[in-house]
Amino acid sequence: MELDYDYPPYRPPSEAGSALLRVVRGCTWNKCAFCGMYKDIKFEQRRKEEVFKEIEHLREFFPVARTAFLGDSNPLVHKDIVEIVRYLRERNPWIERVTAYARARTIARMKREKLEALKRAGLNRLHIGMESGDDEILEMVSKGATAEDLIEAGKKGGKFFEISFYYILGLGGKERMENHAKRSAEVINQARPDFVRVRTLTVIPGTPIEKMIGEKITLLTAEEQLNELRMLVEGIKVRTYFTCDHVSNYLFHRGRAFFMGVHGVLPDEKERMLEEISDALELVRSIGEVMNSNDMAKLGRIML
Ligand code: SF4
Repeated sequence: MELDYDYPPYRPPSEAGSALLRVVRGCTWNKCAFCGMYKDIKFEQRRKEEVFKEIEHLREFFPVARTAFLGDSNPLVHKDIVEIVRYLRERNPWIERVTAYARARTIARMKREKLEALKRAGLNRLHIGMESGDDEILEMVSKGATAEDLIEAGKKGGKFFEISFYYILGLGGKERMENHAKRSAEVINQARPDFVRVRTLTVIPGTPIEKMIGEKITLLTAEEQLNELRMLVEGIKVRTYFTCDHVSNYLFHRGRAFFMGVHGVLPDEKERMLEEISDALELVRSIGEVMNSNDMAKLGRIML
């Protein structure tokens, strides 16, 4: 195969089996204090002809995939995105689902006609970084979106696509823990995403948030992490699939994970999930020596 395929450097864990198609390079925003994903990449829209060529050869690079994911961070801003999604579907009838990362503000401001055209072309799901529903925290970490944008993105985007919201546990530190959990639950209740996916703040060396730690943000202990998770789960009243599908949420004792987050349909499985959090809290209090993702990342025992 002569084609030099350009893979997107990141995709959500739930897209591990997807065919990956790079539509843009980098992130249009690139300012979130906790994020190091595209810091060294200058944002650009890939030439449509290049993307089309990869679409034509997609099956050769992903022989067993059944779904497709569009990279990098905000591909819906590509001027030819509708045409790209349509061509992707036409040339690859085996694709069951097409998903993409999207910024909340982009979706909140996008014309409904464009969203509708994308749906018709074959886009199914958006992965949106909510991170927090608290405006003070969103501003502190330079998210470039407000709680209002998040609600609008969820409501508007949800008319056309499945919506996955990502929450960063611990993002407000010990200082804003309660506001972070409670206001995020309120945003989720209004935005009604289909999925809520939790990541626990794990400091990436060299990112702006590193300098905030110990000044504006006190990292949570394992016990505080569980308390924040409990407040978030308790506060969500709408139907959504809630999952901690990332290693950053794990808690470890003597190098082994003993808590791997909670997963289930809210509100139906809320009681069971809260019980699991209470059990983990008891364990943390009794075994004492517990490590979280920041401890493990420093030791090089987990990669993020
Ligand atoms: S979190 Fe998303 S929007 Fe923010 S800089 Fe990273 S890729 Fe861009």
